[in-house]
Amino acid sequence: MVERLQLVCASANPDKIAEISAILSDVVDLLPRPPDVPDVVEDAGTLLGNARLKAMAVCAATGMAAVADDTGLFVDALDGEPGVETAYFAGPDATYAENRAKMLAALNGVTLTRRSAQFRTVALVVWPDGSELAAEGVCRGLIAEAESGGRGWGYDPLFIPDGGDGRTFAQMTEEEKHAMSHRGLAFAALLEALRNR
Ligand code: IMP
Repeated sequence: MVERLQLVCASANPDKIAEISAILSDVVDLLPRPPDVPDVVEDAGTLLGNARLKAMAVCAATGMAAVADDTGLFVDALDGEPGVETAYFAGPDATYAENRAKMLAALNGVTLTRRSAQFRTVALVVWPDGSELAAEGVCRGLIAEAESGGRGWGYDPLFIPDGGDGRTFAQMTEEEKHAMSHRGLAFAALLEALRNR
């Protein structure tokens, strides 16, 4: 029998909290981030470094173990950009729609077979004694030539995962997306690591 863990979630994004909570629920009681803990500046330059900054800030503020994640979209035809800057591709205050529009413009004229990309997520737990456990999830796919689908968020209407049936993430149910998504895979691997700890 595995002892249940209490982890404070470093993210205040309700969509992410619901997703992480569902994946970890067998082993983890996910607690909300206290409202007085501000967002950190994510300037570590790597997904692992940014996830660590977020988890350590919440761990330090609460004195409890904290879980965080960080995701990037790495597009081959753009030499791996936007990568760790995925959230800010079209500027510091860019909306999801502006980021998608910039992506379509950046890949204008690039044929579908050359629009390969990968979403990468690092999920990480940090404990007050400084120890940590990290896991990565990778989802390869293609950046579509136009948006499709009304579900999801971020780049979902543009991302066609490999191993699917050609639909974008935004055309899938949440369950379908999470079964193959970067974040779903990262947290499933983190759960496995927590179980084996
Ligand atoms: P974050 O580190 O999870 O906040 O992700 C950084 C950025 O990547 C987000 O602002 C989104 O634009 C994008 N992103 C992350 N995960 C997804 C996803 O599952 N679907 C679409 N876009 C995503």
